[in-house]
Amino acid sequence: SRMGSTGTENVKVAVRCRPLSQKESFTKGENAWDIDTSLARIRATDAALLSRRPLQQPPSTEFHFDNVAYGSDNKTLYDSSVKPLIAQAMDGYNATVFAYGQTASGKTYTMMGTESEPGIIPRAVDEVFSYIKTTMNNEFLLRVSYLEIYNETIRDLLAPENDNLKIHENKQRGIYVAPVVEEVVTCAQDVLGVIQRGEGNRHISTTDYNLHSSRSHTIFQMIIESRQRSNDSTTLSTRMTPQPRSLLNPRNRKDSVKISQLNLIDLAGSEKAASNQERRKEGAFINKSLLTLGTVISKLTDAGKSAGHIPYRDSKLTRILQTSLSGQAKVVVICTISPSVLAVDESINTLKFATRVK
Ligand code: ADP
Ligand code: MG
Repeated sequence: SRMGSTGTENVKVAVRCRPLSQKESFTKGENAWDIDTSLARIRATDAALLSRRPLQQPPSTEFHFDNVAYGSDNKTLYDSSVKPLIAQAMDGYNATVFAYGQTASGKTYTMMGTESEPGIIPRAVDEVFSYIKTTMNNEFLLRVSYLEIYNETIRDLLAPENDNLKIHENKQRGIYVAPVVEEVVTCAQDVLGVIQRGEGNRHISTTDYNLHSSRSHTIFQMIIESRQRSNDSTTLSTRMTPQPRSLLNPRNRKDSVKISQLNLIDLAGSEKAASNQERRKEGAFINKSLLTLGTVISKLTDAGKSAGHIPYRDSKLTRILQTSLSGQAKVVVICTISPSVLAVDESINTLKFATRVK
């Protein structure tokens, strides 16, 4: 929130507007949003307001967030919105980044990026390993998993035959998905290899990859464990015994081990889709999970005040992430919008979500 410019609050919200695509600039290429990055302010242009019927005028046409970005520069967005979170994850806080927005607004560009403009995931992974290199007193164990939720069904992208995973909870192990592949990784290249493997599996098992990927949530998760280093050990251990997930809950922590999870999540497209029955069914699942996510994050913002009932169990996404969406956990929500006047209604919905969670 704006009050939190001291950087102490647990939820940060950024809005990112992508540039007009070439196709958009040839057709109805009017820019719907006037952005001032230094004031972290975004405002509907006259062109945007004229494109809507008067009754649809939004109650507010000007919005402020923790960060407002425009353009293709992934490094600046990462540095201002995500870098501080990685340090917190390494320090034992559970941390999550969400990319939220309508299809083609730039969620995957933001999370994955391109070869020349790497996104949040490769940058975060690099940062984790450089942190480890400079933290000589500790040894670390890193595990990664890569899941997809489609129509409220959880699939392991690293073992696609496991396409209906269940969520379990018990005192000893905490909340966990099983059976799930958790790869131990010792360098950034390992992690990128794991992600590539997962992406490959997505392509093989779905006929319409683009449609499917825009209708599903992908959850990249890294579990970070560290403990004081014994003399003969290396910094990155594959010998450390993995700790149970129950320790991810700060109440169960032991002094000798730090454990946290870093979740990097590319959400399903937030647009209202109702073209046929199949799309409507997907849309209903997506709406429910995104609505629940909004409620859960806004309760996290309110933490300290009495938050009341938090509906983690209303969606698989929030249930899987429950430990990372409670207590002192850190959350960054990056809401992506299209600059086009043709997308202005969906962009306003996205800005409403952004306002609701901050
Ligand atoms: P989403 O994942 O939200 O469906 P994508 O990330 O796939 O959207 O973006 C749609 C298209 O727009 C892609 O071709 C992508 O490369 C491009 N794009 C998205 N955001 C940006 C950006 N900030 N700068 C340049 N190109 C972008
Ligand atoms: Mg995408």
